[in-house]
Amino acid sequence: MSSPCLFCRIVNGEIPAKKLYEDDDVFAFWDISPQAPKHFLVIPKKHLTGPGAFSAEDEALIGKVVRIGAELAKENGVEQCRLVMNNGADAGQTVFHLHLHVLGGRPMSWPPG
Ligand code: 5GP
Ligand code: ZN
Repeated sequence: MSSPCLFCRIVNGEIPAKKLYEDDDVFAFWDISPQAPKHFLVIPKKHLTGPGAFSAEDEALIGKVVRIGAELAKENGVEQCRLVMNNGADAGQTVFHLHLHVLGGRPMSWPPG
C-alpha cells in the first residue's frame, strides 16, 4: 500500500525527484520550487512529522540530516548557506515529513519574513 506522505513517496520512488544524495538513513533532493539559486531538502527516510515530533532515539538521525546538509552545501558550492526546519503550519511547514531546507547562492537577510 502506498504511503499518503509525499516525501515518503519520494523516498520510495513512487514520485520522481531530482536526487542529490541517498544512504540507508537519509535522502536529499532538489526543491521543486527553489527559493534560492541552490535549494535542496534533506530528510530522514524514517517518517517523522517535524522537528517538534522526534524523540531522543532519533537525535543521532537528525544530527546526521544536518551534517549531510552542510556537507552537500559545501560540495555544491554554497558552504555559506541557510539551514531551515519549519515546525508547524504557522512557521510555514506544508509537508509534514521532517525536512531540512538548505538554501544558498544569494545574500540573505535576517529576520525571515
Ligand atoms: P515546507 O514549507 O513544508 O517547509 O517545505 C516543503 C518544501 O517541499 C517546499 O519548499 C516545496 O517547494 C517542496 N516540495 C513540495 N512538493 C514537492 C515535490 O513534489 N517535489 C519536490 N522536489 N519538492 C517539493
Ligand atoms: Zn513521510
